Parts: sequence; C-alpha cells; structure tokens
Amino acid sequence: MSNKFILVINCGSSSIKFALFNITNKKKILSGLAERLLLEKSNVIWKINKTKHQNLIVSKASHKNALDFIINNILKKNIYLFKNIIGIGHRIVHGGNKITKSSIINNKIIKLIKDAIIFSPLHNPINLIGIYESLKNFPHLFNKNVGVFDTVFHRTIPKTAHIYAIPYMFYNKYNIKRYGAHGISHNYVMKKTSKILNKNLNSLNIIICHLGNGSSISAVKNGICVDTSMGLTPLEGLVMGTRSGDIDPYIIFYMNKILGFNMKKISNILINKSGLLGLNGVSSDCRYIAKNYYCNKLVKLSLDIFCYRLSKYISSYFAIMVDRLDAIIFTGGIGENSYLVREKSLSKLALMGVFLDNEKNIKICKGKYGLISKLNSIPVLVVKTNEELAIAEDTIKLILN
Ligand code: ADP
Repeated sequence: MSNKFILVINCGSSSIKFALFNITNKKKILSGLAERLLLEKSNVIWKINKTKHQNLIVSKASHKNALDFIINNILKKNIYLFKNIIGIGHRIVHGGNKITKSSIINNKIIKLIKDAIIFSPLHNPINLIGIYESLKNFPHLFNKNVGVFDTVFHRTIPKTAHIYAIPYMFYNKYNIKRYGAHGISHNYVMKKTSKILNKNLNSLNIIICHLGNGSSISAVKNGICVDTSMGLTPLEGLVMGTRSGDIDPYIIFYMNKILGFNMKKISNILINKSGLLGLNGVSSDCRYIAKNYYCNKLVKLSLDIFCYRLSKYISSYFAIMVDRLDAIIFTGGIGENSYLVREKSLSKLALMGVFLDNEKNIKICKGKYGLISKLNSIPVLVVKTNEELAIAEDTIKLILN
C-alpha cells in the first residue's frame, strides 16, 4: 500500500477543518478542526490513529495562527506523515464566472479567486490564506496545490434558473447571477446516491437538501445540477443558522431609509443575526433547538419556519423534475442528524407522494444512514456527506495526471 498522503484544508469564516488521506485507499489518517478563530479560547481538536487531542492556541487566533499550529505542532510532530504529503487540496467557496473545474493553483487561478472576492467577501479571502500558508510552508509542493470550488457543480444550471429578473446588463456586464454554493457536498452526495440506488448517474433525478449551519438545496436532473437555492452569494434561499435566506429585498431599503441602519449593520443583521438565531433569540444550534422545541414558543416557531421554507423549496424542485423524481436526500449536520427537521419538512409533502416511515426516521440519526420513507413513497434517504474526501479525490486526480 502507498504511504503517500493528501492534506485537505477547508478554511471557513471562524474555523478550519483539515484532514490527511492516504492516496491509495482514501482512508482518513488524521482529521481535525480549529475553531473559535478570532474569538476568545481559540481551540484545535484533532484525531490521529483514533486518539483524540485538544489544544488551546493563542486567544483570538487568526487563520494564519491556526494554520501555523496545524503545520508545526501537529503535522511536523508526525514527521513520517509530514514528509509524505504529496499534494494539498483547498476548498474554495467562489470560483467566479471563469473557473469551470477543480484546478492546480497557479498565479492565474489565484487571480481568479481574488476577482471572485466581490461575490464572496467572507470566504474567498480566508480561502486564500490557506493557499498562501501552504505555498509558504510546503515550497516543494508549489504546483501540487489544488483548488476545489463550491460553485463549479452549479455551472450547469440553465439560464432560466440562474439569471435574476433585474435589468439584463447586470448579468451581461457584471456577471450577477446565481452561482450557488455547497457544490462540493452536493456533487459528492449525488455520486454516492447514484451508487446507493444503483442508478446510472446520467439518468439520476434527485433533490438534495444539505442542511447545516449554512443550508442549501439542489435539484439534479439527469446527473447535472439544474437549480439551487443559494444565489449570487450563500445568503439566498433556505433559513439558516444565522442567515436569513430569502427575504423581500425591500426590507433592506426599509432598514436603511426608515430605520437609519447603514449597509454594514444591515449586512451583519442578515448574515450573522438572522435565521434560526434571529427568530428565537437564543441559539442557531439545531441540537439546542430540537431539545427545546416543545418548551419554548419562539424556538418552536424558528424551526417551524425553517421546515416550512424547506418544504416549499422541495415541492418547487419536484415541479421542475417534470417526469420523474428518484429520491429526496438529506445530508449535512442537521440533515443527517435531526429526525425532527426531516419529519416536519416532509409531513407536508403527501400530495407529492412522500410518506415518511416514522420509525425508520427516528432510528436514522447519530451516524446511521439509509432509507427513511415507506415503500409506497418517493424514496427519501439520509446520505452522509464528506466534503474533505471529495476534495482529496479531485486533488489526487489532478496531481497524479
Ligand atoms: P457547517 O459545516 O455548515 O458548519 P454542519 O454540517 O456541521 O455545519 O452542521 C451543523 C448543524 O448540525 C448545527 O446546527 C448542529 O446543531 C446540527 N446538528 C449536529 N448534530 C445534531 C443532532 N444530533 N441533532 C440535531 N442537530 C444536529
């Protein structure tokens, strides 16, 4: 067996996920999470050979501090692993209008990632920190860094679904359109579902609900994405942990003109203070919400609105399937674990032919996956996503070719 490894770096707004995969059997050798970045008590947890470790790093650690820790205090302390890293895969949220596939990182790709910052100001700059730190700390791998882009999966969405109904020149001249996000997860889950259902990818019609802190839903027809709920940025669509999802754009003018809020404040409200947290005023964490669903009215209302919006999206995507829907898939931290969310959002879809098997639905959580619908229903499946593995696989393909 090969003893070469791929490092995967997934830099988020306040966390970094990292993992090391064996290139031959694709097994995860090491995985970890740096969290609470830029906040008090920044922390790294990691697992190697099934043993868990945890370490506080400097308080309010930057992404660069955290990457320094990961490289010097974790990877270099396991020198055998460190020396055998032959490529690095980076999750990049926004590839802009020009990036069409996973790509070896070079100056041209870095420029395109920079150009897309206007569409992803929270994520792309942080993704770039991951790239710069890798190039600095692994100079011998300068042409073995690969960018894997969340937007790429959605490039097949037809014009009718990706152009906004605002004057055409905003599309034509300024590239304002639906780019979508979470594409790495949607793509991985689509391929996995095709294997689970034993159905040819080219004829697979499914709806994928990726529900986590950020949530999005995709319609896949004949193995390609034909619509998704996130838009120009990851703010549009479903209700999320702290993001509003769809709102009437006039609310922004109201906040600005009538309430006197400036644009920075409004964007902070819509991105960080809305969604589940904004509605219930206590928590964006679905575990807390599920626990307190029956004893706190606003907590209940927040999850009911979350599930109502999800039901509406699922049924609108059902309509665009036209002739056949093979399955509805739930994935992501909430989709994989919250039977309550699955029950509340699917209970409204009987007219579509969706009938949940309550017993199976309750059983499938905490790391278990599979069918949760009755036999006479459109199949509903819980499928585990694995964005890090998907990034590792694309990286292996590109650097070994
Ligand atoms: P992201 O990758 O977008 O940060 P995740 O996919 O890890 O998010 O999902 C995080 C969400 O999953 C949180 O809201 C968390 O509460 C929820 N979650 C995780 N486990 C459970 C569970 N057992 N029951 C309900 N929700 C859960």
